[in-house]
Amino acid sequence: MMTEGAMSAPPTDLNALEPDIWSSTAQRVGGAVQVGGVELRDLAREHGTPVYVLDEDDFRGRARAHRTAFDGFDVYYAGKAFLSTTVARWLAEDGLSLDVCSFGELTIARRAGFPAERLAFHGNNKSTEELAAALDDGVGKIVLDSFVEIDRLAKLAADRGVRPNVLVRASVGVEAHTHEFIATAHEDQKFGFAVATGEVLEAVRRVLASAPLNLVGLHSHIGSQIFDTAAFELAAHRLVRLATRVRDQHDVQIAELGLGGGLGIAYVPSDDPPETGEFAAALRTIVAEECEANGLPVPRLSVEPGRAIAGPAMCTVYEVGTVKPVRVGSAGVRTYVSVDGGMSDNIRTALYGAEHSCALVNRASDSPAVLVRVVGKHCESGDIVVREVYLPGDVAPGDLIAVPATGAYCRAMASNYNQVPKPPVVAVRQGATELVLRRETMDDLLRLDAGLSS
Ligand SMILES: *Cc1c(COP(=O)(O)O)cnc(C)c1O
Repeated sequence: MMTEGAMSAPPTDLNALEPDIWSSTAQRVGGAVQVGGVELRDLAREHGTPVYVLDEDDFRGRARAHRTAFDGFDVYYAGKAFLSTTVARWLAEDGLSLDVCSFGELTIARRAGFPAERLAFHGNNKSTEELAAALDDGVGKIVLDSFVEIDRLAKLAADRGVRPNVLVRASVGVEAHTHEFIATAHEDQKFGFAVATGEVLEAVRRVLASAPLNLVGLHSHIGSQIFDTAAFELAAHRLVRLATRVRDQHDVQIAELGLGGGLGIAYVPSDDPPETGEFAAALRTIVAEECEANGLPVPRLSVEPGRAIAGPAMCTVYEVGTVKPVRVGSAGVRTYVSVDGGMSDNIRTALYGAEHSCALVNRASDSPAVLVRVVGKHCESGDIVVREVYLPGDVAPGDLIAVPATGAYCRAMASNYNQVPKPPVVAVRQGATELVLRRETMDDLLRLDAGLSS
């Protein structure tokens, strides 16, 4: 067996499901893993594999926990993490608001009957058609990202005789990820108006001078999979200081500060993100202190969690197709376990070098642990699902393995690479299943092929 420095010793119980990584109702009963009271092997038999399994109680529990923890804030779920009409309806019922950043996301929200006034529209390049649709639907607020967009939206609003609520997105010079954050004066990225150059104050000036636009706030979003509140502290400091300058220059009180999303989740046992309540309390304290120091009334606050709500609520179930020991130099053998999906249903490992874990879910096993690499079926050697993980040594073709915490940015970023149809999303709750998105078929893909005569 190959040993690698970064990988710790095998877990004492390979059959245990790490509670911080798996959704709240996941448990092993008589050997097989259940989620929402449904055995994954039954679900796989009915729906095929790969299949995304959405734990409804977990998703909604996290949505409500965010509402409670952020009491007094507006909580916008970031729809880009994972969106369907079912999920949009849950969010509407549970009292959350919703971020969209394309015509597609807006359409799904509206088709679900999501109230337009609880929608916020984001993005660095919203088209004229997208902005027009947002105005025609009456979305609650639009987050402005460029001077071109200020003019574009002002004209569209004037044509329609409406006055949309807008926030100005500030690029505060903080970029955060997991345990690190980088603070820079000049951020080299595409979003927002730079604070450091004073560009953001010019944006505020132009919005205030534009009769069709109603300035309600300032916004920042600093990164994703963040574990460290210090990054938010610095961002909030810069945002409040900006609000102070707007007051001083224009005698205008900023009514709302949007603090963005980015709260991280656990993908592997060593991940230790802050708990939602702690995180909310930290943000509240940071903003209150900053406002007090600057003599500002505390504005209305908003947050936009995506991953922290959707991420832990889903797992992806795959069937093992091949198990191949590969001799690696003189160091030993690496066991490659190939599954029937891969980078088309979870691009995170290939795209970001993300870490995941997984477990054998159709049965328990007492076989000794083997360090394996779980790979997909695509024609790309970077098509890795889990770079390193311990599985029971008797894992074999026909077994089912599930990767937990795939609710955010997996189905949402899925592709048809190698003409593989996208897997379905099935919600489970109290022993019942509900199809959220059906599996794509070859007919779905062929329908787009204009070379076939009708
Ligand atoms: C992506 C994004 C979010 C959500 O980020 P998570 O890391 O999923 O919480 C929130 N707000 C904005 C503006 C975003 O771009």
